[in-house]
Amino acid sequence: MPKRILILTTGGTIASMPTAQGLAPTGDGHALLDYIPQAAEFCQAQVEEVFNLDSTNFQPEHWLRLARRIRDNFEKYDGFVITHGTDTMAYTAAALSYLIQNPEKPIVLTGSQKPIFAPISDARKNLLDSLRFAAQDGVQGVYIVFDGKAILGTRARKVRSKSYSAFDSINYPVAAFIDDKRILRYTDTEPAHPGVRFFDALHPKVFLLKLIPGMEPEILEYLADHYDAIVIESYGVGGIPFHNKRNFLQKLQALTEKGKLVVLATQVMLEGSDAEVYEVGARAIRQYNALQAYDMTVEAAVVKLMWIMGQTRDPEKMRQLFYQPVQHDILV
Ligand code: ASP
Repeated sequence: MPKRILILTTGGTIASMPTAQGLAPTGDGHALLDYIPQAAEFCQAQVEEVFNLDSTNFQPEHWLRLARRIRDNFEKYDGFVITHGTDTMAYTAAALSYLIQNPEKPIVLTGSQKPIFAPISDARKNLLDSLRFAAQDGVQGVYIVFDGKAILGTRARKVRSKSYSAFDSINYPVAAFIDDKRILRYTDTEPAHPGVRFFDALHPKVFLLKLIPGMEPEILEYLADHYDAIVIESYGVGGIPFHNKRNFLQKLQALTEKGKLVVLATQVMLEGSDAEVYEVGARAIRQYNALQAYDMTVEAAVVKLMWIMGQTRDPEKMRQLFYQPVQHDILV
């Protein structure tokens, strides 16, 4: 019995056509299948057009809508493939990883750097690879399949803006390599707990602040008035400047007193934070109750905070949920 796969289309380059204003997702989501007739040999795919957006326009409300479409169709299909723009795909992959936990079925996001209609394009390969991966026995969880790699949804990051090899797996092995019909799986995809669990709430008031030398700490006062969690993309293994007149530590106190969550992350792409190594980080963690992202991607950290605050606003519970692994997002 061939696997039944639901393809949810959302726009992106893969479904884009040239317009007077540049490439835009004007294509017909249903037409995507016409470009990969081989798919009929190994799966029964159906298409549903959910959005027709450049993924730059994606918002948390779109993630919730996608998760609901999967929940409503969950029993009817063996797997799901979502076609999506590459620019914010890593955020959507993280969001679906938190909104749909222990799915026991594959949920695969894919897209392309060139539109599917173009004579030279990565689109047909990526879509076909995604369907093959989603049709494999035993694959479960949320992934991005791109340029022959399957990357866990909580570990993906867009690392190249133009070439086909656009995504990498950050601080975690690539889950599988897909070479035409051959699929080599490197990680175990057993869910941590049996039984899918869907969530339907996100609180998007999360801010990501990238530190640069010379930044004025007053920015934190503004952020405290407008956001409930702040991820500070700091330097190296993680630290907060407190030298002379630009003292961010003083401002951190006001934030935590207001019940805001502060998470230290790093601007360095690989290996993550270890903020208690240096005084600049240890003070923030020990005196001001900041959390740290450790080996999580920044994409996963910000979306995890939205998911956590959709469930609870209790500071102790939030801290505990942040460090509790979901779909291999954190190794601590
Ligand atoms: N701007 C496009 C998008 O993210 C880029 C792509 O799909 O590759 O929708």
